[in-house]
Amino acid sequence: MANTGQKPRIVVLGAGLGGTIAAFEIKEAVGNKADVTVVNKGDTFHFVPSNPWVTVKWRTREAIEVNLTHIFRRKGIEFFTCGAKAIHPKDNKVTLSTEMELFYDYLVIATGPELAFDEIEGFGPEHFTQSVCHVDHALAASDVFEAFVRDPKPIVVGAVQGASCFGPAYEFALILDTELRKRKVRDKVPMTFVTSEPYVGHLGLDGVGDTKGLLESELRQRHIKWITNARVEKVEAGLVHVEEVNEDGSTKGHHQLPFGFSMMLPAFRGVEAVRGHEGLTNPRGFILVDKHQRNPTYPNIFALGVCVAIAPTGACGCAQDRLHDRVHGHGHRAQLQTNTGGQGPDARSDVECHLSGRLRRWRRGLFCSAADSTAQHQLVGIRQVGASRQGGL
Ligand SMILES: Cc1cc2nc3c(=O)[nH]c(=O)nc-3n(C[C@H](O)[C@H](O)[C@H](O)COP(=O)(O)OP(=O)(O)OC[C@H]3O[C@@H](n4cnc5c(N)ncnc54)[C@H](O)[C@@H]3O)c2cc1C
Repeated sequence: MANTGQKPRIVVLGAGLGGTIAAFEIKEAVGNKADVTVVNKGDTFHFVPSNPWVTVKWRTREAIEVNLTHIFRRKGIEFFTCGAKAIHPKDNKVTLSTEMELFYDYLVIATGPELAFDEIEGFGPEHFTQSVCHVDHALAASDVFEAFVRDPKPIVVGAVQGASCFGPAYEFALILDTELRKRKVRDKVPMTFVTSEPYVGHLGLDGVGDTKGLLESELRQRHIKWITNARVEKVEAGLVHVEEVNEDGSTKGHHQLPFGFSMMLPAFRGVEAVRGHEGLTNPRGFILVDKHQRNPTYPNIFALGVCVAIAPTGACGCAQDRLHDRVHGHGHRAQLQTNTGGQGPDARSDVECHLSGRLRRWRRGLFCSAADSTAQHQLVGIRQVGASRQGGL
């Protein structure tokens, strides 16, 4: 659809946490001076942070999703629910999965992550482990969890190499511990937290405040063992193969962990529709942005949320670099610096701001998942309100 009107057209790709709010705020700012169009896969917004609660039935699926069609219409925002097939940054157009072409003056990419389960043999909800990254996964995991409670065995929970989002792994471990205690089977379930982080509480950010001490203590008190610097080699039915890596990148040892239920967060990459554009994306398909969330090569393209290229934090010195590359499996930082043509530090400081904001929310929300949580995930206004105190039984 060519933009033949007088008004500029702003297209927002993705109606998740980032894209929905961006569309609302852009429309509010531009009023009738520009047309705002949102393209999403499906017509529904899911509040991703509540997915773990769906798995243990603390929330129903219906409680954490909302249909966006009427909401966008009321706000005068055009809405396509078929998803984008490809973007063409040189031609200022998006091809939708229906093959329709949508021209834009400005493009805001908020397509979140593609979940890279396929990078590890036997990994992910199509194979032997569960996921809470999407509400469909969380719901499917709920059936597996119910069967597991009837026949309790060990649990393996955590985040694999290349993962950049660690908070939900800790959150889910604490949720599982709490729920198993409620169901009076916790004593039958040895739990192991497996993570590619160099230490517990690193969170991909070299820790924040005393997250190391806090989380170690929390896991210890709940009798959850951990393996850090872990690289998951493969998963078989009921068995995870883990390599533990030394600081110099050499192998420290191998572990074979039996499980009856396992959820490990995967690595992320950019979604297929936006991948593979020189100057727009890094080799993992994440969008390169400057401190204004704007792509340096295509200044009419902006990006926000998980689809943005971020640099890892906390690695220092050669040993740490080697460790990072072994465990994380990609030279993310080097790619970012190269691809931003010397603007790496800018991109980093921007990303650090973004992350520190997220982390503040994380720290508020992290411990709220246990039984006496006072956190409220509010769909009204799509805001997460986290009143924090440490949960417990
Ligand atoms: C279990 C879990 C718990 C979390 N808890 C927290 C928390 O407590 N606090 C916090 O701050 N963060 C939390 N996060 C992280 C948070 O969910 C993400 O930061 C947030 O959802 C990212 O928003 P986003 O808009 O970038 O991506 P998403 O919310 O994933 O949205 C992406 C949207 O893009 C759409 N899309 C994908 N491909 C296309 C395409 N080709 N065309 C059109 N649309 C497309 C998708 O359908 C989706 O609607 C959590 C993450 C997980 C997995």
